[in-house]
Amino acid sequence: MEIKTKGVVLGRTFVGEKDAIIKILTENSGVISASAKGIKSMKSKLSAGCSLFSYSDFLLTESKGRYIVASTSLCEGFYGLSANIERLSYATYAAEAAAAISPDATDARALIPLLLNTFYLFSNSQKNLRLIKCVFELRLLCLLGYAPELNGCVECGDTDELCFFSPSEGGIVCRSCGNLPDTQIITKDTLTAMRYVQDADNKKAFSFSLPRQNLDEFEAATEKMLENITGYKLHSLSYLKQIAGRT
Ligand SMILES: [Zn+2]
Repeated sequence: MEIKTKGVVLGRTFVGEKDAIIKILTENSGVISASAKGIKSMKSKLSAGCSLFSYSDFLLTESKGRYIVASTSLCEGFYGLSANIERLSYATYAAEAAAAISPDATDARALIPLLLNTFYLFSNSQKNLRLIKCVFELRLLCLLGYAPELNGCVECGDTDELCFFSPSEGGIVCRSCGNLPDTQIITKDTLTAMRYVQDADNKKAFSFSLPRQNLDEFEAATEKMLENITGYKLHSLSYLKQIAGRT
């Protein structure tokens, strides 16, 4: 069987001397792992389209649940990422998070524009990379049906004195309900920024800046929610924290 699809390369593992297994977020079939044979050869026609973070057209052949990349053509590459280890680490984390949350085909179509936008910004933007990461995380949660409740307390529904966030309950918590096991402080400006990101359209979601303290609160909330959903701490996140000097 043949599958023709556009997709984003989220991961690549070399196998033996010439081949690789690539993990593709496809438009039509969710995340697929496919064998890219001979990709390490200088003459390989697959190497550009199968490079990490690439957005490409793929022709895949499937037999007994195993996929092989028959041909590929690059639509958009983010080569700038490999020139800077910190930017590369952020993009690797975004790719791993997208793969770990295992979107189905419908979600994948919505997720691809977010990923491409995020890779572009990690590659080129002078913005704070951590802010790009926070926006990506929150938009990822929203797209896949895990949008946090940001308008009323997740325990009592109150809309006053919203000063905590509970990643396990998935939303904000008021002062009187604040003694949940994992609540963290969230200040008004952080909440305003999170609401903005949740409601903005794709292009504008990244268009703001935030002081460090608010960024810390935002990041703690979205990172922990993602970890709760995937069920484990992503390897690329631990690595990123070392690279960014924030272990
Ligand atoms: Zn409450």
